[in-house]
Amino acid sequence: MKDVWESVIGLEVHAQVIAQTKLFSSVPTTFGAKPNTQVSFVDAAFPGMLPVLNRFCVDQAIKTGLGLNAQIMLVSTFERKHYFYPDLPAGYQISQYQHPIVGEGWMEIETEIGEVRRIGIERLHLEQDAGKSVHDLDPHKTYIDLNRAGVALMEIVTKPDLRNAEETVAFLKKLRRTLRYLGTCDGNMEEGSLRADVNISLHQPGTPLGTRVEVKNVNSLRFIAQAITFEIARQTALLVAGQPVEMETRLFDAQTGETRTMRNKEEAQDYRYFPDPDLPPLRLEAAHIAQVQAALPELPDAKKKRLRTTFGLSAYDADLLISEPEFAAYYEETLEALLKGNNHRELTSHEAKIAANWVLGDFFSHLNRTGLSISSTPITPTRLAKLIHLILQETISGKIAKDVFALLETEEGDPMEIVTRRGWAQVTDIATIEALVLEVLAKETAQVAAYKAGKEQLFGYFVGQVMKASHGRANPQIVNAQLKKLLG
Ligand code: ADP
Ligand code: MG
Repeated sequence: MKDVWESVIGLEVHAQVIAQTKLFSSVPTTFGAKPNTQVSFVDAAFPGMLPVLNRFCVDQAIKTGLGLNAQIMLVSTFERKHYFYPDLPAGYQISQYQHPIVGEGWMEIETEIGEVRRIGIERLHLEQDAGKSVHDLDPHKTYIDLNRAGVALMEIVTKPDLRNAEETVAFLKKLRRTLRYLGTCDGNMEEGSLRADVNISLHQPGTPLGTRVEVKNVNSLRFIAQAITFEIARQTALLVAGQPVEMETRLFDAQTGETRTMRNKEEAQDYRYFPDPDLPPLRLEAAHIAQVQAALPELPDAKKKRLRTTFGLSAYDADLLISEPEFAAYYEETLEALLKGNNHRELTSHEAKIAANWVLGDFFSHLNRTGLSISSTPITPTRLAKLIHLILQETISGKIAKDVFALLETEEGDPMEIVTRRGWAQVTDIATIEALVLEVLAKETAQVAAYKAGKEQLFGYFVGQVMKASHGRANPQIVNAQLKKLLG
């Protein structure tokens, strides 16, 4: 057992708070605005300007804390964290250190083999983002864009409870989903709204944790997994060779898939934290926290459970449907609309399953193919529900329904109007179908003779011919019945 090394991972996640304005100033936070158009005197650190705490951001942090099953602190404080960086005009960042707004909590993840693991949350605190240094506009100059300076961030710190790259990715996906359901962070990793520092160490089971290495600001799940895999291999090689792992901060290089030293322990910064004299301690009322709690939306796990128990959906379908809050909302609105069309008779699990199939199948491929979003597609939940209704009532077959669905992309009106316009309604009139059957049988004299002589497998062929003659519109059950009658 001497050379068995176990990896241990803890995360520091920075999540940009969804808010109209910044943490301590009232300028907007719109992404992609022209450089330096969203900067107040506070953000630019003009002398004498006072920060004013944005209560909406405070509520966002409370919401997030509650969503992470964490303790909300009735008193928290803001501190100045000092460091020099050109895009940090004040020379310090206002953050929370000794007394964060959110204390310990947890979130559960499911591993690939279906094991549920509870990952501890150490804390969540509020802090300001820095500005952005732009190095690629000019070969000799660096430009500073302060639009992001002062935007509210939540730093979410986990306990060192994760064991490998797979669990870390599962955790971040779950966290991202939870934040999106809560409406507190959009989780967009490409735009930098969600970024993670990854701490990795190795130890031998049953012994204290080893020295950790921090890998900074890796901005995609794939890179995070690569960085972890690389670090585990690098540290294992050192330890097996009897060499120590240095405590350091490393950077991930996406080109090579490797990490390299950014700064070591000796260069570690002393931030000289001290309470911000401009900001009094933040005090929260228990009643206010209870209000926020009562207004929390249903979170993904609860929603999945409900979809499964109420409608008997498979774990697989339920997982896909809850993967984004918009998907779940679309599905539930479709069920809602179906229910209305049903005069509020309870939906059967068969109906819920058909709706799930349409959303996960044709609807998702429609979004993929057209690049439309759920909010911009003309195929609204109501229209989809009306289409499903036509199938359930056997007004159209499943096959015709696919054609109608495709037309919903470009044609206006209810599915029934499209069906009528094209003359696609299912034919259920017995006399009409009987006429079609007679017509087919009259043409197929040789096959009819063979059938009557005992070649019974020809029955399916006759069904096919009648369906074809009706352009796919005849009701198959009636076709079967009429064929049986007229051949018998
Ligand atoms: P700092 O703020 O100096 O980075 P913290 O003690 O707050 O230090 O830890 C930061 C992160 O490092 C947390 O996510 C924690 O889970 C993780 N961590 C702490 N010890 C270890 C360890 N031995 N191995 C891996 N991760 C660790
Ligand atoms: Mg750290």
